[in-house]
Amino acid sequence: MKAHDAMYIGGEWRPAASTETVPVIDPATEQVVARVPAGTAEDVDAAVRAARAALPGWAATPPAERAARLAALRDALAARAEEIAATVTTELGAPPQLAAAVHTGLPIAVAGSYAELAATHAFEEKVGNSTVYSEPVGVVAAITPWNYPLHQIVAKVAPALAAGCAIVLKPAEDTPLTAQLFAEVVHEAGVPAGVFNLVTGLGTVAGQALAEHPGVDLVSFTGSTAVGRKIGALAGGAVKRVALELGGKSANVILPSADLGKAVAVGIANVMSNSGQTCSAWTRMLVHADRYEEAVGLAAAAVAKYVPGERVGPLVSAGQRDRVRGYIEKGLAEGARLVAGGPDAPRDTGYYVSPTVFADVTPDMTIAQEEIFGPVVSLIRYEDEADALAIANGTVYGLAGAVWGEPEEAVAFARRMETGQVDINGGRFNPLAPFGGWKQSGVGRELGAHGLAEYLQTKSLQF
Ligand code: NAD
Repeated sequence: MKAHDAMYIGGEWRPAASTETVPVIDPATEQVVARVPAGTAEDVDAAVRAARAALPGWAATPPAERAARLAALRDALAARAEEIAATVTTELGAPPQLAAAVHTGLPIAVAGSYAELAATHAFEEKVGNSTVYSEPVGVVAAITPWNYPLHQIVAKVAPALAAGCAIVLKPAEDTPLTAQLFAEVVHEAGVPAGVFNLVTGLGTVAGQALAEHPGVDLVSFTGSTAVGRKIGALAGGAVKRVALELGGKSANVILPSADLGKAVAVGIANVMSNSGQTCSAWTRMLVHADRYEEAVGLAAAAVAKYVPGERVGPLVSAGQRDRVRGYIEKGLAEGARLVAGGPDAPRDTGYYVSPTVFADVTPDMTIAQEEIFGPVVSLIRYEDEADALAIANGTVYGLAGAVWGEPEEAVAFARRMETGQVDINGGRFNPLAPFGGWKQSGVGRELGAHGLAEYLQTKSLQF
């Protein structure tokens, strides 16, 4: 696998300040496949300076020209789709079909959506005797996780480019090759030097230096709630803008009027996709007491299709595998009933975890409260709608969710959920709909026009 031994700063690959490196491991083979430079505060400073220098020119570029660069970015991503998918498979472990359809297809669609939004957005409006301009927020620090390595990058970089911002990206240490490939694509798309910069390295070193840098105007972070809290505090101290896309513990609420078979099958597929490493996964399945045992049987049958090494990839790292196994053991210790899977390794090599279904999970159990980030589903019994709503809303998170049932009932229920997005009867993912969390799932929104607004600030001129 091709890796750069440099940082992409000011439109070129520049040697890193230190000779330290971070290994990239293929989680299916446990082999080191590449090494990338471990960025330091010095690299981050060089990248922020390059971004600041490029900002005035890019901010003044007409939106139509920014749209043209974004369209070129979308086309350059599409032209290298196979390489992107192969890279995601190597460093994340995503099965090839998922890597092609979701990990590659979604960011291409999102880049395209921002090419259109840059061309059509009203960056200027009249309000009474004022003209209100939407101007770029400035230099953006983009800090991204490994679970959807390219999507998380594009969901920040594309709207930032559309808005006229300059960017420094610090991608997750587990998936830096996708980020390096993305930097090549940005270069090919003709984005001016310094508008996009990449510093690889550890979160506690390069990530922290970037979040703290006084030359950054907005920190856009996607990752764990624990790190998000620290970044939010830093940004608060410096009075700078911050966007946080954090963890989740979403509920899949199956109302008595639902098509139970479909709701359970789609619910299991939703969690097993990407080996459960999806922040918006519906990891708590809420079923009425009258149909509970039927749902347990359906879930056991549905999960059998997810064979590790075939439809389900490994987890990203040994650390994540151990964490998820720890949660499975905790579920057993707290008295949940194991219906499928369990803590034992399903394969000799690779960071695989058995797709696991727990029944008799009560809302206060650890596995019903904490984000597991692995292929683990908890079936929780409810007595009536009020009980279901209290359980659905009964965590610190509020990122996503699903409701199944007669459409009017399902919508009425969804409107009472404390969460950022809800799929009704299996509604499709919409890359133009705002994505983001309530409560401790975050601050701010990504995707579509709402995502663009994160990178803009207003200026009003009165006449
Ligand atoms: P993480 O918080 O450990 O790391 C995320 C990024 O932050 C990485 O680039 C990391 O290097 C960096 N980082 C770590 N410590 C830092 C620090 N002190 N200062 C600055 N940067 C630092 O999260 P992860 O394990 O990579 O990702 C999994 C988590 O991300 C899960 O909790 C998941 O729910 C969440 N997530 C949320 C969304 C969303 O949109 N809400 C999407 C994907 C993942």
